Amino acid sequence: MKQTIRKAFKFRLNTTSEQSQKMIEFAGMNRFVWNKALSINLFRLENKQSMLWYNELAFWLKLWKSSEEYGFLKQCHSQPLQQTLKNLEKAFKDGFDKKQPLKRIPTFKKKGTSDSFRYPQGVKVDQACNKVFLPKIGWVKYRNSRQVVGDVKNMTISRKGKHWYVSIQTEYEAYMKRHVSTSMIGLDVGITRFVTLSDGSYVEPLNSFRKLSKKLAFEQRKLSKKVRFSANWKKQKQRISKIHETIAYARHDFLHKTSTQISNSHAMIVVEDLKVKNMSKSAKGNAEKPGKNVKAKSGLNKSILDQGWGMFVSFLEYKQAWSGGDVLKVNPQYTSQTCLSCSHVSKNNRKTQSKFECTECGFKANADLVGALNVLERGHRLLACGVETLVSSVKQEPVGSSNTNLLLTA
Ligand SMILES: [Zn+2]
Repeated sequence: MKQTIRKAFKFRLNTTSEQSQKMIEFAGMNRFVWNKALSINLFRLENKQSMLWYNELAFWLKLWKSSEEYGFLKQCHSQPLQQTLKNLEKAFKDGFDKKQPLKRIPTFKKKGTSDSFRYPQGVKVDQACNKVFLPKIGWVKYRNSRQVVGDVKNMTISRKGKHWYVSIQTEYEAYMKRHVSTSMIGLDVGITRFVTLSDGSYVEPLNSFRKLSKKLAFEQRKLSKKVRFSANWKKQKQRISKIHETIAYARHDFLHKTSTQISNSHAMIVVEDLKVKNMSKSAKGNAEKPGKNVKAKSGLNKSILDQGWGMFVSFLEYKQAWSGGDVLKVNPQYTSQTCLSCSHVSKNNRKTQSKFECTECGFKANADLVGALNVLERGHRLLACGVETLVSSVKQEPVGSSNTNLLLTA
């Protein structure tokens, strides 16, 4: 079974003053075109003349642009203006539709209350670098808070208060199906290994991250020696933002490949709940007892991966949703300090970044693998508890709920 799903993703834009100035102008021109075409049609309605629909209005738009009086309209990209005329046509048709009792004849737009315009095409999204491309405005940064999924259909730029927003509309085909695999896997994220799976396999961080972070540090040192705001300083600044971009692309690509691979092979993926996890804290703990390379590996390389983990989980989530699988989030506390053999919890169980050795029973293993297995274990418990709670909710709530808490924090 297949169905087309339409989704909208709205983000706040981080515009430069030049960009927001252009947006104000574009919104103004679109408002002008709307109001002008509207007043023509209202006049015709009043005088019992036939309405002008999109095709005629688009012809008028061309005339306005070539006229001296309205020539300023040429500064705006033509597609948003045409889109505005299409929107007006739709608003009129909806207003005449007797089946829609709440619809009314369109009204005039006022400055400040309806500042918006839509690009029906020609736009691009660069999710790795958090920016969108708007024709005649250029690349604009946005606050990337979640993954945009599907083919981009159009973008609407609008203003609310002081800020500009982009609404990205997408479309994709979704298949209603069950995941091809039936296996369940636990994941643990780390610094030396990007991710360790509970089946013992692992994925190393991308090698180029280390090279790039070294290069970045080198160029940043060079920048600090230059006179601020001088021509050379600006050039150097650009070189650095280029490296940041290269890192962002490499990370995006790496996270996509890794998440696809894991999502393809497992129906149920258990991960640590990031909201509870304090990544920087655990890194500090390692630096207190620095093994070889721990210091070098925390720092830049670590920050590159830290940023990637949240993105990685969001990739897993939507890929699992597509393939009929699932992602389960569990409490991350002490996953790397809990003994698999005797359940003893201690900071001292983790001898180094990579070695786990239980101070109670002497159980030894790779620390990341212990983490992944504990995550998997908690996933199993959570699933079991879900069933338990369901059963207990019939009569014995107190037992069920306290059990759940015990199991989850143990
Ligand atoms: Zn033990």
